[in-house]
Amino acid sequence: MSASTSPRLQLVQGDITRQSVAAIVNAANSSLLGGGGVDGAIHRAGGPAILEECRQIRARQGGCQTGEAVITTGGRLPAAHVIHTVGPVWNGGHKGEPELLASCYRNSLRLAQENQLASVAFPGIGTGIYGYPKKEAAAIAVREARQWLASHEWPQTVVFVVFEDESQRIYEAALAGHE
Ligand code: ADP
Repeated sequence: MSASTSPRLQLVQGDITRQSVAAIVNAANSSLLGGGGVDGAIHRAGGPAILEECRQIRARQGGCQTGEAVITTGGRLPAAHVIHTVGPVWNGGHKGEPELLASCYRNSLRLAQENQLASVAFPGIGTGIYGYPKKEAAAIAVREARQWLASHEWPQTVVFVVFEDESQRIYEAALAGHE
């Protein structure tokens, strides 16, 4: 954890599939049927129960649109739940990407609130295969988490989980810049 974090907002470098939190957030795609990046890692580590629930959600509501979120079990993960949200594909920044990315964070946090989940861990939604610039994405993630925590009891803790050293530095700067 870095000095710029608060008890309710934390930064951890590591693999999100290893986090012992109430829910981890998946950077899913709208099919909910799995993919590469963090999505693939979560399904591999969590086992088939997660995909089975995703299929049931698909049958009910036809997948998940960009900016929205759905919740499933965590299967074999240390986390009891996975919140699947679909980030925007980066297309230059003038196609509603910032608002859609903010919706990913807000809708995921709303599911955590509705399910009274104490702690939620987020990867950098959209910042891998979908190409969202990491610095701009981190600023949105930090802003939305701070705004949510300031006015809601649940979740009690939000954890940003970064994989690479570069992402760690970017989040440290984003967290320091808005104290
Ligand atoms: P998207 O399709 O939304 O861009 P990706 O899965 O490609 O999602 O990447 C999202 C972010 O998650 C990237 O910054 C990537 O480095 C990071 N990431 C990939 N695997 C893991 C993991 N196991 N734990 C934490 N972060 C991860």
